[in-house]
Amino acid sequence: MAGNGRSKMGLLIHYEYCTGCHACEVACKQEHGYPAGAWGIMLQDCTRQSLDKVQVDFLPFPTDLCDLCARRTAAGEKPACVKHCMAGCMTYGELEDLLPLMESMPRSVVFAPR
Ligand code: SF4
Ligand code: SF4
Repeated sequence: MAGNGRSKMGLLIHYEYCTGCHACEVACKQEHGYPAGAWGIMLQDCTRQSLDKVQVDFLPFPTDLCDLCARRTAAGEKPACVKHCMAGCMTYGELEDLLPLMESMPRSVVFAPR
C-alpha cells in the first residue's frame, strides 16, 4: 500500500537472510552525507555459540538518525537501504501493513522512527 501522508511508515527488517554485507550502512551514509562515526543504520553482530555450533546472525539496526529517507520517499523512491539490500531484507511501508507481515516472518523486526 502506498503512503498517503497520514499513515505511520516504517521499515520491516527480515534479518533471517542478512548476509552482513554492510551495503545498507554505506548506502544510508552516502545518501545523507553523515560524517565519520555517524550512522543511520548499524549492523549488530549477534553471533551465538554453543558447544557444537556457531550461529551467525546480523541485525541491521536503524539509529535515531534514520528519517526513513524522507527526501527519497517524498519523491516516490525507496529508502536507500531498501534499494541496495541485495538480499531483500528490507521492506518500507505503512506500519499497518508491515506488522502483520512481521508476524508471519521468523526473525524479523519492524522499526518506526519517533
Ligand atoms: S531508511 Fe534511509 S535513513 Fe533509515 S536506515 Fe534506511 S537508508 Fe538510512
Ligand atoms: S544490505 Fe541487506 S544483507 Fe547487507 S547488511 Fe544490510 S540488511 Fe544485511
